Amino acid sequence: MNIGVIGMGYVGLVTAACLTKWGHNVIGVDQSAEKVTILSSGGLPIREPGLEDFIRSASEQSRIRFTTEAKVAISQSEVLFIAVGTPPLPDGQADISQIEATVEQIAEHGHDQQLIIIKSTVPIGTTDLVASKLKQKSTVSFLDVIHNPEFLRQGQAIHDFLFPDRIVIGFENPAAKQVMQELYEPLDSPFIFCDRKSSEMIKYASNAFLAMKISYINMLARLSEKAGANIDHIAKGMGADRRIGSAFLQAGIGYGGSCFPKDTQALIAMGRQLDSPLPLIEATEQINREQPIRFLHRLEELLGTLNQKKIALFGLSFKANTDDIREAPSLKVSRLCLQKGAEVHAYDPVVKRYPVEQVQLHHHPYTALDQADALIFLTDWEEFRQLHWSEVRYRMRTPLILDGRNLFHPEEMSPLTEEYGLIYYSVGRPLIRQIVHSN
Ligand code: NAD
Repeated sequence: MNIGVIGMGYVGLVTAACLTKWGHNVIGVDQSAEKVTILSSGGLPIREPGLEDFIRSASEQSRIRFTTEAKVAISQSEVLFIAVGTPPLPDGQADISQIEATVEQIAEHGHDQQLIIIKSTVPIGTTDLVASKLKQKSTVSFLDVIHNPEFLRQGQAIHDFLFPDRIVIGFENPAAKQVMQELYEPLDSPFIFCDRKSSEMIKYASNAFLAMKISYINMLARLSEKAGANIDHIAKGMGADRRIGSAFLQAGIGYGGSCFPKDTQALIAMGRQLDSPLPLIEATEQINREQPIRFLHRLEELLGTLNQKKIALFGLSFKANTDDIREAPSLKVSRLCLQKGAEVHAYDPVVKRYPVEQVQLHHHPYTALDQADALIFLTDWEEFRQLHWSEVRYRMRTPLILDGRNLFHPEEMSPLTEEYGLIYYSVGRPLIRQIVHSN
């Protein structure tokens, strides 16, 4: 099939690359000339494991090309995916202006029997709205406008696209249902066919539920610290129950990224608009907002003050294996440290540009630690597990380690704290070794 994909971000680019693997010809569109230039010259504007190889082999077989001209992709494709952004507005609602701009272009250049598939996460009712706008603005008869939410996780996006737990399809025209089945025929995953609004809601409900699991365990981590329990045991004991499951029960600094924060906020906003409040999601959001602040309180308690202290942050992206810093906890933590008079140094394996200018970026982890009063882990990169603790201790002024991702186990840290005099704080677990106030 000839397929157009509008929006070459994390979702669109992965979708485009995977479709070429199934033998389709894809035209990828992005309004950013910079992104299109990078892609056309064989580079990648984002970091996603495995993606470069997929795009390279598709280019070699002439199965993919990139353009800023939406008209080219719209007029030459049988199926058109929309994967543009739906970022949050100041009041939490999803901003669908990128979708609206795309609809204008489809109305102008679309053709009869073309199938439009919205992959973006959109507020309930958006796909119906797009369908009726296309009817109003265009003379052509589209096969259908479908909502087909994406559930990929950044860092393992290719795997998730190719092996999804389910394929959700919100449709109206039964003929389109068949095209979707053909399109996803290479996948061995169950289809869930439903109306468009339910499909839109499934995406928000799934993300909000996962976010709720994270906030739930973080809420219990707070209680564990006060009660002297260990959140690892609690998560293990809960997760062993198959009705609960162990995924997303990892206590830490809280969730970030381009999805959970914005999708929980958008769902709350929809609840308010429809006079159907969502207190569970509101609490989820509130716990997550508080989590980095509480973490910083602990740092302040341990150091006495942050004024003129040197803080080293390891991991700036919102999670490992991605360079995406949207809503990353590091943003809040670094800003709070700076506000309190600290000097902030940071190391990240892949993030090399950072919007908080006063944060001093290092190319090597150890140089970020020179004379540091605390080291904070904010992303669970595997590379951090390979640090030489003797070097860490040698470089730091105060050997205080705060583990915002519970990356290390207290059992493995305990002998290290003995050997190197480290003080190790993680979330919801007992503090190892009491700090002696440094100057
Ligand atoms: P992104 O911001 O990385 O990419 C969106 C791209 O669309 C950008 O490159 C932008 O330049 C381009 N764009 C915007 N308007 C355009 C237009 N009119 N014409 C051409 N290009 C245009 O976003 P993303 O992370 O890929 O997310 C896309 C959608 O998928 C969002 O709704 C998001 O909620 C959803 N989603 C994201 C993820 C994820 O992990 N990132 C997972 C599932 C769903």
